[in-house]
Amino acid sequence: MFDSLSDRLSGVFDKLRGRGALSETEVRAAMREVRVALLEADVALPVAREFVEEVTERAVGEEVVRSVTPGQMVVKIVNDALVELLGSTNAELDLNTSPPAVVMMVGLQGSGKTTTTAKLAKRLKEKDRKKVMMASLDVARPAAQEQLAVLGRQAGVDTLPIVAGQSPTDIAKRALESARLQGYDVLMLDTAGRLHVDQQLMDEMNAIAAASKPAETLLVVDSLTGQDAVNVAKGFGAEVELSGVILTRMDGDARGGAALSMRKVTGKPIKFAGTGEGLDAIEPFHPDRVAGRILG
Ligand code: GDP
Repeated sequence: MFDSLSDRLSGVFDKLRGRGALSETEVRAAMREVRVALLEADVALPVAREFVEEVTERAVGEEVVRSVTPGQMVVKIVNDALVELLGSTNAELDLNTSPPAVVMMVGLQGSGKTTTTAKLAKRLKEKDRKKVMMASLDVARPAAQEQLAVLGRQAGVDTLPIVAGQSPTDIAKRALESARLQGYDVLMLDTAGRLHVDQQLMDEMNAIAAASKPAETLLVVDSLTGQDAVNVAKGFGAEVELSGVILTRMDGDARGGAALSMRKVTGKPIKFAGTGEGLDAIEPFHPDRVAGRILG
């Protein structure tokens, strides 16, 4: 992840670092190279353009050109701008509501939604000491509810007993009632996916949200799909009230475009990153650490 972007940027900055003086022309030329590197990493064009404009404006200032270590100052400016682009601070889950706090997981098929539901449930149970229940509302895919039950057993997290023939909203209501009666702190709802964002899916998501009043509605997207991931987030965000995004497959060789464009294009924070297939492979998304990794 980010490897080729990181290489490209260190190539640009190595040339600047250690220089006693930098002209405005040199700074502008370096920034053009940064722009190319971002576009090659699949960052959305308007995001790359605006990022480079802002950074250039800050970097051609008197302070930088007159500094004794101008190259280092430019790198610092790029780093700070990257942190801002990625969302500034770690966006925590807000589960401060009367229990059970509902966490609704949405996303396309194959994004990693069911696995991520189990990962997050395990984390909330083990790290935050919450009593967590999971329920699958995916009645479209025959094995989906059973898949969540299997993951629940692996993760040591309870799942709502499966009752055949119920609609997604009926399952959501039953899950809520059951979680309330049994004193669960958190109820995680794994919803159905589709191959594409479609109106029927969006209507189903809104019906579930109306029935369960989620404290968090998290969209799971595959970081390997680059700009498509951002478009999926835009599509969901236009129809469903999202509170954040989880990027999966950050352990893969995604070029970084999804992570870098997501916040700016959708206005939603990236809250977690999936980093592998195992049920512990999930991490809070820290913009400063990610920026640090990009800049090496
Ligand atoms: P869903 O259709 O969205 O519910 O997707 P699944 O949860 O069934 O995941 C599809 C596949 O992606 C499974 O094989 C998961 O193990 C895998 N997967 C999910 N998240 C990650 C991740 O962060 N990294 C990697 N490498 N694989 C993941």
